[in-house]
Amino acid sequence: MSNKDSSEFNFPEALLVKETELFKNCTNIVVGKGNINSDILFVGEAPGRNEDLEGFPFVGAAGKNLDKLLEKVGLSLENIYVANILKCRPPENRAPLQEEIRAHTPWLLRQIKEMKPKVVCSLGNYATNFFLSGGDIDLMDGQAGITSVHGKVKNIEMEGLKFKLIPLFHPAAIIYNRTKLTPLWEADMEIVKMEISQEKLF
Ligand code: URA
Repeated sequence: MSNKDSSEFNFPEALLVKETELFKNCTNIVVGKGNINSDILFVGEAPGRNEDLEGFPFVGAAGKNLDKLLEKVGLSLENIYVANILKCRPPENRAPLQEEIRAHTPWLLRQIKEMKPKVVCSLGNYATNFFLSGGDIDLMDGQAGITSVHGKVKNIEMEGLKFKLIPLFHPAAIIYNRTKLTPLWEADMEIVKMEISQEKLF
């Protein structure tokens, strides 16, 4: 069963997504999972094959690693919500195109407005560059890479939203470089926990 015809998805930001080729070619729209009332939003790149088939983000190999990494720092899906830059799977998991990011991120911003997270953890380069560029897709390419910005807290204000951005390595990248990246992930997550324990946002 696909959720593509769901009557829930008739608001303007969803209709923008439905106009894209990605929507025509995907099995499911992948909206998000986890606790929408929590203080932490994780944002990945795009659904892969398993996510497309099941309709939920991070259910494949990267997702299994995300679960493990969260467990290591004493967190679970009860403490975070997870979404992606793109709501539909790109063919062959290719990188998102600028016009796809432009059409799919208004829905993500709508989710952020509803959720009001204190901290947004961007997973990997695409999500990080989207937020660092303040949502200006033309500026995404000029942003620093995840290797230099991971774990660095940045105050973000976009579209009337205020939150702390903490870029993290993507769980899929950690699979290929566990020894080096797992300790960095754990240290970065301590920063996330410290930020959400602080009462005042700015
Ligand atoms: N990678 C992502 O960035 N998002 C997913 O949902 C799955 C893998």
